[in-house]
Amino acid sequence: MITLKETDEVAPLCPHCDVRITELWFRELRSTFGRRYLYFCCKCKKVLGVSHRKGFWMG
Ligand SMILES: [Zn+2]
Repeated sequence: MITLKETDEVAPLCPHCDVRITELWFRELRSTFGRRYLYFCCKCKKVLGVSHRKGFWMG
């Protein structure tokens, strides 16, 4: 079993450039299925993830 715990005490690190992510950038992708959001590191601009649910964030 894995426990899910919320924390504000540590900053997540980018897996690509090992820099603390202080700001997560995203851009909107539009398709016939709806909107997706592409999240990327504000430092190295590498993609960290894509939201697959419509309106997952900022929706
Ligand atoms: Zn990075």
